[in-house]
Amino acid sequence: MSGRAQLMWDEAVTGYDFGPDHPMAPVRLELTRKLVSALGLDKELEIVAARPAGESTLRLVHREDYIDAVKAASADPGAADGAYGIGTVDDPAFAGMHEVSALIAGQSVAAAEAVWRGDAEHAVNFAGGLHHAMPGGAAGFCVYNDAALAVARLLELGVERVAYVDVDVHHGDGVQAAFWEDPRVLTISLHEHPRTLFPATGWPQETGAGAGEGAAVNVALPAGTGDAGWLRAFHAVVPELLADFRPQVLVSQHGADTHFEDPLAHLAVSLDAQRAVQLACHELAHAYADGKWLALGGGGYAVVDVVPRSWTHLVGIAAGREIAPETVIPEGWRQEVYARTRQLGPQRMTDGRWPVGYRDWSAGYDPADRLDQAVLATRRSAFPLRGLLP
Ligand SMILES: [Zn+2]
Repeated sequence: MSGRAQLMWDEAVTGYDFGPDHPMAPVRLELTRKLVSALGLDKELEIVAARPAGESTLRLVHREDYIDAVKAASADPGAADGAYGIGTVDDPAFAGMHEVSALIAGQSVAAAEAVWRGDAEHAVNFAGGLHHAMPGGAAGFCVYNDAALAVARLLELGVERVAYVDVDVHHGDGVQAAFWEDPRVLTISLHEHPRTLFPATGWPQETGAGAGEGAAVNVALPAGTGDAGWLRAFHAVVPELLADFRPQVLVSQHGADTHFEDPLAHLAVSLDAQRAVQLACHELAHAYADGKWLALGGGGYAVVDVVPRSWTHLVGIAAGREIAPETVIPEGWRQEVYARTRQLGPQRMTDGRWPVGYRDWSAGYDPADRLDQAVLATRRSAFPLRGLLP
């Protein structure tokens, strides 16, 4: 059973805009929000616009000199010269960059507070999941790391165990870095192998350090991994770790760039499998985290065809009204898509691959199979550090 959920939304988050030639087009957020309404989901949850994260909150993760640099670039974008990663091809400076980045972070932080205090059982911020931002610099289209800030705020509120599960196609490097030595935060990232994709980290041997040794887990998937392999890897790693760790809150990042249509990466996952993992995260939150679940967006560059559908499923699951895979998309939304983008929107809510099957790890593995090798590398590196069998 699910209690009332919150959807974090302030129209102003669409001001997170690196410019017309940048792949992270804000229309993806706008179209997602409209699809949520078109399917009537906004009546199923509370829509909340939280305040921007203030200076003291941003400092829970970010260095003061970096925040000052973001503010300076925000006020005078022309002066950004690449220092702190700002003014680069990936992270161009733009006017108002500090304010809108702090606004997105504020949504994730407020969502975490609401879930922890019991004001909402689940909360979604699909504008968030900006997992590449580092304590001292912008990276990979990310300025402030709202995911890490939400986790840091939970720790500040006294939470002792937070699990962060990141299924974006890219490694959740910024969140991992923020809690690298912190045993209170278990970070698990499933992503395309660092050999073939940005940010070139997320090797299975990265397991944390100091008191946090064993609190970082990385699954580096071979390029080309499809639904069956992706689900097999998820279920071979995540549930067992959460069952053992017993988080008090689950924070998950649902970058939609694992999809076969995504232009920036090389996995071959369908919307049906993305939806299956969203459902699994919801179930795991109920099984091991007393239902306390904060779900975030992330990457996703097929901005018309994939992102709105993927995150609308996420909102539906959090709202306790999951959207059936074969659901026909309302014509009004498709007209909106055409008007905004001159592209034809999709007709149904998934790729028609439901139900997506996979072979469970407990049924055995094949040491010659590349996917199984990836899972084994993770289990051998990380599981013994947590007292679990590889
Ligand atoms: Zn990504």
